[in-house]
Amino acid sequence: MATTDDSFNGLTEYCDECELDTLHEVSVQIRTESTKKENAQFSREPYRVSECQRCGHRTSQRMNNA
Ligand SMILES: [Zn+2]
Repeated sequence: MATTDDSFNGLTEYCDECELDTLHEVSVQIRTESTKKENAQFSREPYRVSECQRCGHRTSQRMNNA
């Protein structure tokens, strides 16, 4: 089992802009899609955001497809 001290959350993924496999920084964002306070707990959706470290192109995709 290998561990590193590098906390950079990098993944190699295909970038549509570069048309190459490039290093991406991946994070998860919770977006609240409703402004109504009482409904907020039902409308927070996790999005997976990846940013190409080569060209800066960002893609986000909703993780909950239900
Ligand atoms: Zn790119």
